Amino acid sequence: MYNWHSMSKNLDKYEPKKIESKWPHSATQSGASRGKQAYNPDIIESKWQKLWEQEGFWQAVDFSRKPKFYTLIEFPYPSGAGLHVGHIRSWSAMDAYARKKRMQGYNVLYPIGWDAFGLPAENYALKMGVHPSKIVPENIKKFKAQIKSLGLSFDWSREIDTTDSKYYRWTQWIFLQFFKKGLAYQDDVPVNWCRSCKTNLADEEVLADGTHERCGTKTEKRMQKQWLLRITKYADRLLADLATVDYPQMISQQQINWIGRKEGIDISYEVEGVVEKIVCFTTRPDTNFGATFIVVGPEHPFVKKLSNSKFQPVLDRVETRSGIPNSTKEQIRKYVERATNKSEIERIAEGRKKTGVFTGFYAINQLNGSNKSDYGSP
Ligand SMILES: [Zn+2]
Repeated sequence: MYNWHSMSKNLDKYEPKKIESKWPHSATQSGASRGKQAYNPDIIESKWQKLWEQEGFWQAVDFSRKPKFYTLIEFPYPSGAGLHVGHIRSWSAMDAYARKKRMQGYNVLYPIGWDAFGLPAENYALKMGVHPSKIVPENIKKFKAQIKSLGLSFDWSREIDTTDSKYYRWTQWIFLQFFKKGLAYQDDVPVNWCRSCKTNLADEEVLADGTHERCGTKTEKRMQKQWLLRITKYADRLLADLATVDYPQMISQQQINWIGRKEGIDISYEVEGVVEKIVCFTTRPDTNFGATFIVVGPEHPFVKKLSNSKFQPVLDRVETRSGIPNSTKEQIRKYVERATNKSEIERIAEGRKKTGVFTGFYAINQLNGSNKSDYGSP
């Protein structure tokens, strides 16, 4: 089925040895005996692929009387490098399934398209110094030729490209429906920023030491207004509906962990000396009697407010006690800077030594009226 000879150089090392055996469809008559013919993929495969395409064998039919069957691959991002073996590994398994279903009499929809928007396209265009609108169609052309030479049974009559306005008008339309229902909203969220590439990066693009995998620059976390979808609104339904699908146990468990439902309560603590409250979520409110301190993350709004002048009198008192003027604010500032430069992986790694600095503030535990010191920590 595969025409290995016209694959990208990524696949060259996987090229199999020439196969010598009987091939009923062989178009060549070479070889000493008529029964022993060389398999010539260039001739045989292109012959059948042409016929499949002419006859439209892989096209799903609208309003067919046959039972429907829909199977979908993740549409590839058409990179400049061409196909890699990972694409073919998953697609050929699905292809066999789609072909089997057709043989069983189903009207099969096995579509193909290009997931061509986003950071990879942007970064590749930056690297090559060419506009994405020029690069994307070129890459698609290359991918298409490679996929066609593999003889995969996609329905090319329904090919889509996410950068085509005829396609993305519908992603825009659905976004508007989310927006109208309050399911799309903007919020300040921490993003990975590469100063050198002047772009935001996905967590996967930041190495464990906090550097950008492509350029080696130390990345930083910074708050940025982003559009978010309120998928948490569907968390309970996603959990409940796992009972209605036949996922393997391992996949179901991953979903459960990813949704990560925890039941608990929010406890508000007043902060001594200022009109401020800190809200803590806990699954164990019964342990609150023994709580002795509160830890806030470096991105917490309370930490940001510490530069506010109304906090100054309290900070002054702390500094008077310590005898070092301006020490607290400076310590906090330095700590926040260090923490924001750590990668997400570093910050959540288990077994990592916990660090923090005392903010100088005390939260009041309303259960017993005692003071808790307040630490900033990642
Ligand atoms: Zn970079």
